[in-house]
Amino acid sequence: MKTLRITALILFLLATMTALVRAGELEVGDFTFAGPLGSDGTRIEKVAKNHFRVTLAHAPNHPEWPNKLNFQIVRNAKGNDLCLEVLFDGGKSMAFNEYFQSWSYDGKTWQPMQWEKGYKQSPQQDWLTFPVFERDRVFIGTQVPMSFEEVEELIQRWKKHPAVKVHVIGKSLEGRSLYRLEITDPARKIPREKRWVHYFANQHPGEHNSQWRIVGMVDWILSNEAAQFRRNSICHVVLMMSPDGPSHGWYRVNAEGVDMNRSYRAAGSDKKEQAHEAFLWQKDLETLMASASPVTTIWSCHTWSGIVEPLLTPGPEIGSRLPPWTEFARIMQAHDTRSLIKPLKLRTGATSYGSTTWTGGPHAQFGITAILCEGAATLFTKEENVESGKVLIKAIADYYSGHK
Ligand SMILES: [Zn+2]
Repeated sequence: MKTLRITALILFLLATMTALVRAGELEVGDFTFAGPLGSDGTRIEKVAKNHFRVTLAHAPNHPEWPNKLNFQIVRNAKGNDLCLEVLFDGGKSMAFNEYFQSWSYDGKTWQPMQWEKGYKQSPQQDWLTFPVFERDRVFIGTQVPMSFEEVEELIQRWKKHPAVKVHVIGKSLEGRSLYRLEITDPARKIPREKRWVHYFANQHPGEHNSQWRIVGMVDWILSNEAAQFRRNSICHVVLMMSPDGPSHGWYRVNAEGVDMNRSYRAAGSDKKEQAHEAFLWQKDLETLMASASPVTTIWSCHTWSGIVEPLLTPGPEIGSRLPPWTEFARIMQAHDTRSLIKPLKLRTGATSYGSTTWTGGPHAQFGITAILCEGAATLFTKEENVESGKVLIKAIADYYSGHK
């Protein structure tokens, strides 16, 4: 009986000591690189107290492209700070630290976190230093992160609005739904074929700031302020063309390792010639183009350096049915009271990335207005990115006012 009590006491003391040691500092086992925001193949090792070395792996088919740093501390963060040394040895062509990171306690409210050196100075090795955490669980991701699960939550919220129809045009290679929203006033006072049609999509799954820009557009389209715009127009919205990306940390590619903005086929969609999702999306666009309400403008939404940068390849309505493109630029600037967006510029011929992209491709195939909507790497918060989308959509609503 006495022995039993002593054994129980020893076990209790051991458990307490283990807990105290564990609460003292972070361990490798407290991190996960799997989940809705993940980073495939990442290795982590402990260097010193709360100091870890992380080595990133690469995208499928692209040994030179690092996966993005997305992970969770699943427990034990409270009371600990964190220093991460991050490495990638696959080359300098696409640096993992080109964009800022964000961290969060709930995966919704994000704080920006800047790299110590930056990609120009140190593209293959950099450091992140986090303050002492106040909660045990922490999420870390690239830009202002968005998981595919969050895309589905947003769609659940938006689809309650009577103007929203949700189309699932197929499944990704890993079985995720490919969602296209169609937003237009269901009342038929202005016939569908008279409405302007805009198509907004994100091709590169890791370019999250551009996804939040699209969220800002949708939120405005569904607001009371936009009631007339919903009567005049039809908006198609694809928040993520390559939804398998975020859980793997893939920045530009699908599961086949194909760059999702170099896989358009201006000669027409072709199942054999194209990446899986690229083919399904282009076939869907071709169906829209063959309908009574073909797309007037196509917006290909990305992230690169600086503030938002829209680049216009004009279609036939610009400067004929509608005022010159410079008027579109003027309207956009007038709405942009916080300087989130560079003045609209023309992008034609030699300055384009060509017909395998979602601007050059649809413009070559159908002659429609195409906008490469880039930038926003220096918009560090969800709020600013959402706001930039609202500015753009208000300018679209003003320039494409009335109906066809
Ligand atoms: Zn891109």
